[in-house]
Amino acid sequence: MAANAVHLPTPLNVEEISRKAADYDYDPDIPLRYWLRTADAIQKQAQSYQRDGDDQDAYLFFLRHALLVIEKLPTHSEAKLAENRKPLAQANKVVHRNLKTLEELRPGINKRHQRYEEAMARRREEREKAADERRRNGAQQEASLADEMDGMNLGGNRGDSSINQKRSLEAKEHRDLAAKLARREEKKRRKAYTAEQEGPDDLSKHIIEAGKRGQQTFQDRNDRRSSNGAKFVAAPPRYPTVPQKSDFDMKAKSPPTYRSRESPAREILRQLDSGPPSLPPKEREYSQSPPPLPSKVSYDDRNTPSPVPRSTTATPDVNPRDFTFKPSAFLESGTPLRTIFLPPNLRSKFLSFASQATSMNREFLGILCGTLISNAFFISKLVIPEQEATSDTCEMTDEVGLWEYCDREDLLTLGWIHTHPTQTCFMSSRDLHTHGGYQAQMAESIAIVCAPRHEPSWGVFRLTDPPGLKHILSCRQSGIFHPHSETNLYTDAMKPGHVCELPGLEFEVVDLRK
Ligand SMILES: [Zn+2]
Ligand SMILES: [Zn+2]
Repeated sequence: MAANAVHLPTPLNVEEISRKAADYDYDPDIPLRYWLRTADAIQKQAQSYQRDGDDQDAYLFFLRHALLVIEKLPTHSEAKLAENRKPLAQANKVVHRNLKTLEELRPGINKRHQRYEEAMARRREEREKAADERRRNGAQQEASLADEMDGMNLGGNRGDSSINQKRSLEAKEHRDLAAKLARREEKKRRKAYTAEQEGPDDLSKHIIEAGKRGQQTFQDRNDRRSSNGAKFVAAPPRYPTVPQKSDFDMKAKSPPTYRSRESPAREILRQLDSGPPSLPPKEREYSQSPPPLPSKVSYDDRNTPSPVPRSTTATPDVNPRDFTFKPSAFLESGTPLRTIFLPPNLRSKFLSFASQATSMNREFLGILCGTLISNAFFISKLVIPEQEATSDTCEMTDEVGLWEYCDREDLLTLGWIHTHPTQTCFMSSRDLHTHGGYQAQMAESIAIVCAPRHEPSWGVFRLTDPPGLKHILSCRQSGIFHPHSETNLYTDAMKPGHVCELPGLEFEVVDLRK
């Protein structure tokens, strides 16, 4: 569903953003606890955009969170289960907190849209005047198409100051800036962490509790099934179908129970429309950059010469509020994919952790976690979860431990990395199923496969969409190597793709194994 990650390049009005917020795939066959995780990821992205001063995208993600939690999740077949009541209630609470934020964001968004429209009209008028002038002077030369287009472009680097447009940058051409941003974020987080040293908030706790119970039930079920004494490794969840994405009409997407009356989300939107005069947007406290902290000794690429200057004191501070990274690739459906910045030496560090398992011909697994800054993802943690592996499989055995960690650290899960100790570098059918779970929650999720005994020795992949993601989510087979009728199931995510290696991007290895 997060497959519709959009970045909004030109100022839209609230109605236009609302239509985009409602444009996502909802699959009721995906277990509710996964949807709660997805909702949580949407919420985290909304907060990231808000921190970056990207009000349009913040609005879009806050509203999408509200629509998912209020319209869809209550209709889920597992919504009535006792263990899900609390996390759903908590998610509702978050929506109600967000409503205030949505209300605060609205006037600024509409005002900017209005200024943009006015500036466009002024430009058109100027161009027409100039064309008249040329005709009067009998001059035949016409403004080139490029000039025309440039005149229309109020975004990007030529931003009109009254519109306060961010600079829009190609991720791959501004890696130095990206590396600085990542270091700035890391400092900020370390400061915040030492300042507040507190556990996950109520919502996270409830989601985690529900997850624990869900996982327990799942395992109980599996334990009962595997009565032959062999330890049953929980297979990735089956996601039978994903409905077709419908058009922008939110009414058409509402569940039947709401057809006869106004849907809760509609009601939210209506209340926002007719509510009391909005307060001016609050000056957000995180617009100021924190004072620099001593640089962290971590797994950066200090062993290899880096083209990126390491000094942060000599260069002016970069502010994520000033610019935004453009999406760097597209799904087969045309949906843009935001860039994922990957530390170049993450693989070698991962392989050193995997070496013992590799020597015993067992696969090894790591989880890629990170943050969203200026519309790009930065992988900042390589998490080694509790796991069980064979020569051809590896499975996480304590999902909840990973969730708890990500909540505590305010991190998004961006994909996974695993070894093929004997096989070549490819995605097995089991790998495709595992990855379907990641990509269903976040369109940009990636799978890195390391095959140290073969050439190529590694690859970065994602499912095609279409047809890969839906084909895999609807496949009911569970064998390690089972055939699929579709051939074009996955593709490279780096050569070319939305993944970009970023020299100088530091990361930490976090070992959650007991
Ligand atoms: Zn594999
Ligand atoms: Zn399959």
